[in-house]
Amino acid sequence: MLCFYNTLSRKKEKFSALKKGIVKIYSCGPTVYDFAHIGNFRAYVFEDLLRRYLKYKGYRVLQVMNITDVDDKTIAGAKREGIKLSDFTKRYTDAFFEDLEKLNIEKVEEYPRATEHIPEMVELIKVLLKKGFAYEKDGSIYFQISQFKEYGKLSGKPLSDTQRPTWPPSSAAGEQRREDADEYDKENPADFVLWKKAKEDEPSWPGPGKERGRPGWHIECSAMSMKYLGESFDIHTGGEDNIFPHHENEIAQSEAATGKKFVNYWLHCKFLLVNNEKMSKSKGNFFTLRDLLERGYDPLAIRFLLLSTHYRHSLNFTLDGLRQAKQTLKKLNDFYLNIKSYLHTGGASKLSFKDRIRRAEEDFEKAMDDDLNISSALAALFDLIKDINKAISEERIGESDLREAAGLIEKINSVLGILKFDSPKEIDEEERRLIEQREEARRKRDFELADRIREELKKRGIILEDTKDGGRWKKVS
Ligand SMILES: [Zn+2]
Repeated sequence: MLCFYNTLSRKKEKFSALKKGIVKIYSCGPTVYDFAHIGNFRAYVFEDLLRRYLKYKGYRVLQVMNITDVDDKTIAGAKREGIKLSDFTKRYTDAFFEDLEKLNIEKVEEYPRATEHIPEMVELIKVLLKKGFAYEKDGSIYFQISQFKEYGKLSGKPLSDTQRPTWPPSSAAGEQRREDADEYDKENPADFVLWKKAKEDEPSWPGPGKERGRPGWHIECSAMSMKYLGESFDIHTGGEDNIFPHHENEIAQSEAATGKKFVNYWLHCKFLLVNNEKMSKSKGNFFTLRDLLERGYDPLAIRFLLLSTHYRHSLNFTLDGLRQAKQTLKKLNDFYLNIKSYLHTGGASKLSFKDRIRRAEEDFEKAMDDDLNISSALAALFDLIKDINKAISEERIGESDLREAAGLIEKINSVLGILKFDSPKEIDEEERRLIEQREEARRKRDFELADRIREELKKRGIILEDTKDGGRWKKVS
């Protein structure tokens, strides 16, 4: 039974999708004013794990991640360089997608840009004005939180506390994700801006009232999530620093406008520390993904390290931990290559491993069903590896069991995404020739040569599998 810890109810709940077979997810995305750092990527990797596991469970996933391409920081950045806002944000949007690919994060279905959805935001603000949840002051428009009685239900903060938007009390969150930096006059200090009146020299759009301007950050996510996923949808994710005020405000805006429940499950991932301290440029422990790749670290090891701690536990990122993650990954890779290359031995198991393999699969799934308990899930995998290695060294396991174990690893990897089976394009000419030569040798029943070439290819991370329809191969990096 699949369960998630829901921030809204503060307990684990059985997951049930609004519409059978499909899960709709909204994940808060980047503000594209700089390269994303590894703290950001912890959240994106967690969201990728969630997505992949839902697919593993047989759901179709419709996921949306916003790209915030207009705000104080992006405007300031473009101004500093004297270029157009769209040119400035394109650079960091492209970089973001490159980084996602490096970390083997699947593309979600929609990446709406804020600047391309201003009319939707304006419409939503108009509804809020009409229903009496918003007011205009000096050309800007604010959400009046005293009108929304359920304000505070996500963060658990009473209305009187919301005038100090410093949640969580002491954390690295401030630097990890953007705090709301709106500094405009409002009736109540806790009210938040929906529409900012244009300042001189700033990009602006026609607004809900007379004034040109630009949207606040919170309205962006309400408008774009509802556009692509409907007024009510299944899951909303983000970093824990998003809970207040950002997600609290999203609920207020959306539910005030529609009168319906906005989101059923709120999942938040804890922030990341580096060397047990909050990341900061002055302490020298601030890393973008690019920093780490330039220093030669393996992106899949970074992914593995980011996902191997449960998303609701704090993760302490260290370079030592990264080296260990690399070691573990190598072990897994080698194991996979090994069992694949044993497939041609054709021996029979002395004792069937089928039950043992099925148990590993069940344990993996049971752990992941429990709010994505990744540590237990990984333990299930590595326990199986230990048992199989032992059986191999004692020559107790045969081809059909190894084939089944390899299949399970591939299945589990569809969730973890830590082993990369490259597409056919990515072998070079020489490797292609070797594969052909081996096929030829096999046809001529020169098994000695065929085996020698197989070993050579294995050294290059290419594994071969002989089927009735001829040889198949896979490259593992
Ligand atoms: Zn958001």
